[in-house]
Amino acid sequence: MKFLIDHTTQKIHRTPFAGDACELRTTPLEQREGSHDENYVNKLVEEKKYQKCGHCYD
Ligand SMILES: [Zn+2]
Repeated sequence: MKFLIDHTTQKIHRTPFAGDACELRTTPLEQREGSHDENYVNKLVEEKKYQKCGHCYD
């Protein structure tokens, strides 16, 4: 699974499921980070209070 981290809204997206509803287009490219590292993603959620996107997480 590849994840897309939006550092502007502090949301985590699942790349294969991300769509228009995620509103990623409003985020500058340099504020988006792609990662395959689920541990890193979970760390952002637990330690930095990032949220999993309600549109591509279900
Ligand atoms: Zn999303």
